[in-house]
Amino acid sequence: MIARRSHAVVVGASMAGLLAARSLLDHYERVTIVDRDDIPSRPQPRGGVPQGRHAHGLLAEGRTILEEMFPGLTADLSGRGARLGDVGLEGVWCFTPRPLARRESGLKALLVSRSLLEWYVRERVSASPAVTLREDASVLDLAFSGDDTRVVGVIVQDRDGGTPALLPADLVVDATGRGSRTPEWLERRGYRAPAEEIRRVDKRYTTYRVREALDGSTAWAMAVAAQPGLHRGGILLAEEGGSRVVSLVGRFGERPPVAWPEFLAWAGTLSSSRLAEALVGLEPLGEGATYRFPANRRRHYEDLTSFPEGLVVVGDALCAFDPVYGQGVTVAAIEAVALGRCLQQDGPGLATRFHRAAAEIIDTPWTIAVGGVPDDDGRVPWRSRLVGAYLARLLDAGSDDPDLAIAFLRVNHLVDRPSELFRPRTVWRVLRHRLAGAPGVGRGRVRGSSPAPPGRQQVSPSRGTLPSMR
Ligand SMILES: Cc1cc2nc3c(=O)[nH]c(=O)nc-3n(C[C@H](O)[C@H](O)[C@H](O)COP(=O)(O)OP(=O)(O)OC[C@H]3O[C@@H](n4cnc5c(N)ncnc54)[C@H](O)[C@@H]3O)c2cc1C
Repeated sequence: MIARRSHAVVVGASMAGLLAARSLLDHYERVTIVDRDDIPSRPQPRGGVPQGRHAHGLLAEGRTILEEMFPGLTADLSGRGARLGDVGLEGVWCFTPRPLARRESGLKALLVSRSLLEWYVRERVSASPAVTLREDASVLDLAFSGDDTRVVGVIVQDRDGGTPALLPADLVVDATGRGSRTPEWLERRGYRAPAEEIRRVDKRYTTYRVREALDGSTAWAMAVAAQPGLHRGGILLAEEGGSRVVSLVGRFGERPPVAWPEFLAWAGTLSSSRLAEALVGLEPLGEGATYRFPANRRRHYEDLTSFPEGLVVVGDALCAFDPVYGQGVTVAAIEAVALGRCLQQDGPGLATRFHRAAAEIIDTPWTIAVGGVPDDDGRVPWRSRLVGAYLARLLDAGSDDPDLAIAFLRVNHLVDRPSELFRPRTVWRVLRHRLAGAPGVGRGRVRGSSPAPPGRQQVSPSRGTLPSMR
C-alpha cells in the first residue's frame, strides 16, 4: 500500500489537465489545477481553447473511459441534449467518395459540444474538496531543486499582475497543450529537449452551427474526407440544443470560405455531395468561426535519458494530432488512466514509466493521423505509404462490406489496435473485393480537384494515402 502523496499541480484546465487531475485524486491529498484563462462558469467557448468552437466528438473508447471516471456522465450529458449514437449505424462516413456500409456496431459515441463536455468534466473534478482550480494564473516556469534534479513546483503569476510566486508541488503535470514550454524550460536547466516529429498539414477550418431539420432528417454524424488531389473535407455532428456543428476543412493551403453562401458552395465541391445535401435549407445560427491547424506534433519524451523527477507531460503537450479522426480527448483519457496506473508504483522514475506508456498509447492514433502525410522533406515514409495504401483499399471495400467498415471504425474509435485490420481474414476480404472489380480506390468519383501544395508531391491514388476525415 502506497501512502498518499501530498500535493500535485496540473498546469492547464482543459480536457487533458482535468482528466489527469481525476486520476491524481486517487493518489494525492490535494490537487491544484492552474489555468491562465478566466474559466467560464457556464458551458461556453473560451480563449485558451480556440479549437473548442469547432466540431468535436467523443469517440466510443473515450466515452467508455469517461463514464468509468465520472459515473453517470452519459446520462447527465444526454439529459442536457447530447446525442449518444451507434457509430456504425447512425454515422455517414465518406472516407472515399462512397460512404462506408452501415450496420449496428455496438460502438457508442457521444456527440456534445466541446464547451459542454469540458464544463461537465470540470464541474465533476472540482466538486472534490481536494481540488483547487486556480484560474487567471499563468505558469511562467518550472521550479527546480537546488541541484536541478527534481521539479519542486511552478512559478505562477496571477493575471492582475502580482509578483510571480512559487507554488510548491510533489508532482507537476504539464497539460498546457501544443504550445507547451516544457522543452524550453528543460533546456534552460541543462536537460535536452525531446526530439520533435512534425508532419505539416496546414489545415484551415471554418465552422458554423445550424439548426437541425424540423423533420429530424439531419444525420447524427457525417464526414466527407479529403481525397488524394482534393484537399477539401467536411464534418457535421449533432450537438445539444437541437443544433448541428458543421466544419469545412481545407488542407495544404486550401481555405474554406467564411461567408455562408460561399461556405455552402464550397461544401458542394467535396468528394461526396452528401454534406452539401444535408445543409440544404438549414439556416446558420450566428457567425462562422475559423481556425488554423499547422501540423501534427509529437514530442518524444520517452527517448530522453535524463529527465527531472516530479514532472510529467500529457495531452496535446505530448502529442497534438491532426483532428482528422477526433482522437485528442480519447487519447488524453487513456493517458490519464495510464498515469494512475504508473502512480500505483512507488519510487523514482515516474516520468520515464509514464512517458513510455504514453508513447505506446500514442503510436496507434499517430499512425492513423499521419498516414500518407509527407514529412518535411516531402517524403511519405514507406511504412506510412504502405499502411495508407492498404487502408485506402480497406475503406473502399468497407463501402460494400459492413464487417470491414466496422473493423475500421473500431480502430478509429481506439477500441481495437490497428493490427486487427491486418489479420489474414480481413486482408483476404479486402483483396477479394479488389479482385471482384468493385468500384475501387481511385476509381470512385472525385467531384472536384485541387492542386498539390507548392513544393509537395501529389500523392496519387495508385500509390495510396490515407484519406483524412477533416
Ligand atoms: C479543430 C480541432 C478539432 C478537434 N476535434 C476533436 C474531436 O472531435 N475529438 C477529440 O477528441 N479531440 C479533438 N481535437 C483535439 C482536442 O481539442 C485536444 O486534444 C484536447 O483539447 C486536449 O488538449 P489539451 O487539454 O492537451 O490542451 P488544450 O486543449 O490546448 O488546453 C491547454 C490549456 O492550458 C492552458 N494553458 C496554456 N499555457 C498555460 C500556462 N503557461 N499557464 C496556465 N495555463 C496554461 C490553456 O489556457 C488551456 O486551458 C480537436 C482539435 C482541433 C484543433
